[in-house]
Amino acid sequence: MDGGVADFRATKLTVDNGACGYLTIDLAALGRNYDKLSSIVAPARAAAVVKADSYGLGASQVSKALYARGCRHFFVAHFIEALRLRPQLPDNATIFVLNGLQPGNEAACAEGGIVPVINSLDQLRQWSDIARSIQRRLPAVLQFDTGMSRLGIAPEDRSAVAGHLQTSDDIDILFIMSHLASADEVDSGQNADQLAEMRRIAAEFPDHEVSFANSGGIFLGEDFHGVLARPGIALYGGAPSGGVANPMEAVVRLDIAVVQTRTVPAGTHVGYGGVHVTKGQTRLATIAAGYADGLPRSLSDRGAAYYNGVRLPIVGRVSMDSMTIDISALPEGTLSFGSLVEVLGDHQTVDDLARDAGLISYEILTSLGHRYNRQYR
Ligand SMILES: *Cc1c(COP(=O)(O)O)cnc(C)c1O
Repeated sequence: MDGGVADFRATKLTVDNGACGYLTIDLAALGRNYDKLSSIVAPARAAAVVKADSYGLGASQVSKALYARGCRHFFVAHFIEALRLRPQLPDNATIFVLNGLQPGNEAACAEGGIVPVINSLDQLRQWSDIARSIQRRLPAVLQFDTGMSRLGIAPEDRSAVAGHLQTSDDIDILFIMSHLASADEVDSGQNADQLAEMRRIAAEFPDHEVSFANSGGIFLGEDFHGVLARPGIALYGGAPSGGVANPMEAVVRLDIAVVQTRTVPAGTHVGYGGVHVTKGQTRLATIAAGYADGLPRSLSDRGAAYYNGVRLPIVGRVSMDSMTIDISALPEGTLSFGSLVEVLGDHQTVDDLARDAGLISYEILTSLGHRYNRQYR
């Protein structure tokens, strides 16, 4: 990242507000990622998937920054997320709820100007009923299942859906959509299968345009773009496709404070269960973040932190609020109480950390805790 961050790390040895470290979210990098994805899909447009608090990075800040960049379509998963986000964005931003109409909250959805992604024939009928009862035409997106079997209108219900749309004019279908199950695997045959199915559906609903690609789908080529792409992870700097270099810019940096250092002889047990035993004299630092801060226990004896590019392996089990790292590779006295080490940054990406943890980048980002000093740049 920029020199400013490095400077503050070198000089600032305590963390403001009693936090355990700094979670830095680079809104300018986020914006550049949005621009990049937009230009790849052009003339289609890019939406932003901001579910789960924008993958843990803050839905309000992220959505406002992307709105300023020209984004007008925002997807959340749950209705509660739409209710929270609605007042944060201008009226000409549209918020879509991927999980669809929520039982009991259909009227509130219509009232709030929130667009449901309709996932079944029943939901379509319900949304029509609401529209008739309030005597207003209501917007909706129709999602079709093209082979993921998760959400969306089933193949056997398509003709009934088409019939419903022909006989009632109370729903304004903004576009139709589907979701790719294997978009991050460039070579997966499932991508072509789902594309073929999406084309059959588009032929059955010729009046409506298509939204198809998530982050990975954007990199599968133009055929997958439709009129509106729905990137999530790529906006936040995660790799959209496996097995190739990540074209996106990192958005998140995480620096954690050292809370204690010690030197121990060979044969010393480290951490819960005493599972790690030092092989020789070892210098250790305990840093102030653990699994309650989103650094999973599966990093025990596997992951690492970095200092000035030097890898500092995690030793022993990750605790709830701390973990211990081996700092023997650094000159003695380099780290002391209050020093910051890098967990995500120039030397370790979110995908690197996820790999060490046996997880995916999405899980790391959405788990980042709330005890950090969050700064938006
Ligand atoms: C989460 C989600 C996305 C975004 O996926 P990424 O892989 O993060 O780009 C897009 N569409 C739907 C339906 C989703 O559920």
